[in-house]
Formats: sequence, C-alpha cells, structure tokens
Amino acid sequence: MNRKLFLKNLGIATISIPMVATLDRLSHMSDQLAQTDTMPVFFLGHGSPMNGIEENEFVKGFRDQATELPRPNAILVISAHWETRGTYVTAMDQPRTIHDFGGFPETLYEVQYPAPGSPQLAQQVVDLVEPAGTVGLDDQWGLDHGSWTVIKHFYPEADVPVIQMSIDYTRPPAYHYQLAQQLQSLRQRGVLIVGSGNMVHNLRKVAWHKLNENYAYDWAIEADEKLKSWIRSQDHEKLINYQSQGTAFQLAIPTPEHYLPLIYSLALQRKNEEIQLFNDKALGGSLTMTSVKIG
Ligand code: ZN
Repeated sequence: MNRKLFLKNLGIATISIPMVATLDRLSHMSDQLAQTDTMPVFFLGHGSPMNGIEENEFVKGFRDQATELPRPNAILVISAHWETRGTYVTAMDQPRTIHDFGGFPETLYEVQYPAPGSPQLAQQVVDLVEPAGTVGLDDQWGLDHGSWTVIKHFYPEADVPVIQMSIDYTRPPAYHYQLAQQLQSLRQRGVLIVGSGNMVHNLRKVAWHKLNENYAYDWAIEADEKLKSWIRSQDHEKLINYQSQGTAFQLAIPTPEHYLPLIYSLALQRKNEEIQLFNDKALGGSLTMTSVKIG
C-alpha cells in the first residue's frame, strides 16, 4: 500500500505543506523533557571536596533531602567551580568526572561519578534563555567537584542525567539573577536545579586548627545571620547587592564564585514560596555549609 492510500484508509488527508509545519512543531515539542509537578530548587553548601567520600553530618543532610524528592528527569547544576567568559552548558552524552583540586588523598581522585549528560536539556537551556546566543553548548567540561561531591549523595547510583551551567565571571550579580529567572519553566519539566557553592567562603582566613569545628569568626556570623534573614524574608535586592552591605560581607564573600550559585537558586523562588535551611553550620571560622531548599 502506498502512503497516499494508507493515509486515505485512515481518513487522513495528504496535505503536504501544513503537514511539514506540524511535524516540525511536533518534533520540537518532543525535544522537551516531560511535563511534571514543580520541582524544588536547592542551594547546596559543598565545602571540602572530601565530602565526596567522607561520612559526616553534611552528607547525611544531603541524603535526608534526597529521600523526600520526586525523582527528577535531569539535574542542572550551577557550580562555583566552573567560571567562563560567557555562559555555557555541558552538552556531552557522558560527562567526565573532574578532580579539580590538589593535595587530597588518592582515594578521592579515584572516585568516578558516571551520570549521563543530557544534550536534550542543554539544548533546551540554550533555547530558553534570551537574547538568543546568551548560552552556548560546551563539549569540554564535565562534572567538577562542585557537582559530583554533592549530587553523589542524592543519587549514588549516578542514574539521573546531570548537566552543568557555567558562571560568566565578567557579569554582576543582577545579571546572574535575571538569567536564572529565565530557567523557571524547567522546574515543570522535572529538572532539579542546584546551585552549589558556599555562602560564607574565605579560604585565606580559614582557622586550619579548627577546620572540623563548628566555629565562625564574628564577621562570618554577622554575614551569615544577615544572609539567612534576607533569604527568609525574600529580600533578594539585598542579597544581590551583598557587596554594599559592609565590611563583614567583604570578608565573608571576598570573591563572588561561591556565592553566585545562591543567587541562581533564589532567582527561581516564586513569591512566598517555602524556604527550608539545612546543614546550617559554620566550619573553620570562615566557611558556612548552610544549604537552602526552595519549594
Ligand atoms: Zn568550592
């Protein structure tokens, strides 16, 4: 039976031009991940790369969160450890595990986190963010320790696809906030969006002899308390303008890369959407592990 006859038997007319248009639209729609309930968003304090293999209260905190989550279609991580000029998403089928640190035990370098990538989600991010061309596809990066040392505790089987989005180091916080807001619809496509950094993060000031103690300098406590109160009151303006909030903030956030992932996560909070803080502890004077669940 030829195509025309076959379609006629089905009662379908063969109208070539609109058909092509329809097929185009259908194929575009099938490029999208399946519709879901709104996924929560996280900011995760990742701390030391050793959290990738250690057993401690923080990794337990991650595991506890994972038990309450609907299973995502895919995960999008904005990690403090991937800074670029321009914004990119990893688009390979199989991202490599990157051991982007030095001086740690050999066992940490042996860890592999073989989660698949999602070229489909990467393309969806590229298509979503305006103006066109804002986000580019990357085939070189992979999963750095800002991703795998935390996601591993959520999905130890590495069976949920993970992509990363880079942080454009040439841009101010407000730019990142606006870019992140454009990702909102992914939450209804089963995408778990995770910012991974640390709110208070000053490695030059670490009290190394107290690295494993819940100890914080006065300025770290001040910045931490203010950050948390602004997060609770959804005062994003102050959080975006953290650089003009005084000396404590200059010490607590001397460079933006570990803080900006928080801005990405908060940008996705809807009006009065529920916030939950966990792993809310300081370490070694100048680090906080404070993590946030939105929704
Ligand atoms: Zn880090």
